[in-house]
Amino acid sequence: MTSRPSDIIVVGAGVIGCAVAYEFARRGASVEIVDDRPVGMGATQASAGVLAPYIEAPAAGPLLDLTERSLELFDEFVTRVSTESGLAVPYRRTGTLDVAVDEAGLRALRAIAEALARRGVPALLLDAGAARSEEPHLGDGIAGGLLIDAHGFVGASDLTRALVTAARRHGAQLIEQSRVRRITDLHDELIIDTDRGSLTADAAVLAAGSWCGDIDIGGLSPSPRVPVRPIRGQLLSIAWNGTPLRRVTWGHRCYLVPWDDGTVLVGATVEDAGFDERTTVAGVRDLLDAACEILPHAWTAGFRGARVGLRPATSDYLPIIGASNVVPKLMYATGHYRNGVLLAPLTAQLVADAILDGRVDPMLAAVSPSRFGDL
Ligand SMILES: Cc1cc2nc3c(=O)[nH]c(=O)nc-3n(C[C@H](O)[C@H](O)[C@H](O)COP(=O)(O)OP(=O)(O)OC[C@H]3O[C@@H](n4cnc5c(N)ncnc54)[C@H](O)[C@@H]3O)c2cc1C
Repeated sequence: MTSRPSDIIVVGAGVIGCAVAYEFARRGASVEIVDDRPVGMGATQASAGVLAPYIEAPAAGPLLDLTERSLELFDEFVTRVSTESGLAVPYRRTGTLDVAVDEAGLRALRAIAEALARRGVPALLLDAGAARSEEPHLGDGIAGGLLIDAHGFVGASDLTRALVTAARRHGAQLIEQSRVRRITDLHDELIIDTDRGSLTADAAVLAAGSWCGDIDIGGLSPSPRVPVRPIRGQLLSIAWNGTPLRRVTWGHRCYLVPWDDGTVLVGATVEDAGFDERTTVAGVRDLLDAACEILPHAWTAGFRGARVGLRPATSDYLPIIGASNVVPKLMYATGHYRNGVLLAPLTAQLVADAILDGRVDPMLAAVSPSRFGDL
């Protein structure tokens, strides 16, 4: 990827594909986004939009480095995308209260608090009484909690819609109802075969989430398959009664996200169920039980519905972001598992830097496709 490509195709219109396409378009590149479903209808529509690196990646390592760096981009990112799209994006940085229900859980929270203190991240360990002062709805069985102010949440679907709208205002095009089957290179061009014909491009980004492995890369036999597998997540929407929750409340079996309109999201199951995108009685019941355990007042809530998505996971739970070593000019941006919304701004920046400017950020070493061999 030495000369700046003029035509780029992004495969997949989830939060990652839309963020990447937006970043290309605002930097002046000509971009087409290809998807067979409407925008954001993969894992993204199910997402709770929680932005919580210090819960998702409590131990030092590449996931913490990536998520922490992406969170730092969020204030400016949301403001800019909202302004450029003309669409409101719900976004709050009201923190998280991570709750322990027994002494072992409290010891684990204390260890996280100490690690965060060494990293210079403010976090407050609370005993049961102090935790209940912070969140009066907490049940009697609570042993304590950890308050982390830096965390927040964003409306994942609203953000994705705003990203694609802003990208289109910068000239990006959306090609809908087209499923990509194969990506090959021919001389200096990439050929992207879809079930509705072939497209050509100077460069491409594969951001097809859990379905990346279905796409034939390079037309080789056997074709390398992107090693991403679907991990199902179910999430409930309930209508909260009375005094709202103050912030995201996180327990060992579920988390609750309070929206300004009184809706509370309860997430999320983690299930190895293949490509089965159904909500289930077991999933709904587990989440309701878990919510009522830490916040008994949830029992009085109205039930609005359940949604489901397939998180794209890799074997080391790190994303795959980097250039293919099989098809030059193809870059992967997938495998974001539980943190695709949180990682969207950083992923877009790293991918655009690499493709448009030939700048490969040192952070990409840990998430390189080459850790999975020929890809
Ligand atoms: C219940 C649940 C809760 C979650 N909560 C959070 C959270 O709180 N915070 C957070 O950061 N993350 C969260 N996540 C994870 C996050 O939603 C995902 O990491 C993220 O949505 C992945 O985005 P993506 O764009 O890579 O994939 P997707 O959103 O799945 O998008 C992939 C797109 O590619 C398209 N596609 C697939 N194959 C092809 C093809 N062959 N040709 C053309 N198009 C194709 C699909 O139609 C789809 O639109 C959650 C996920 C779930 C399921």
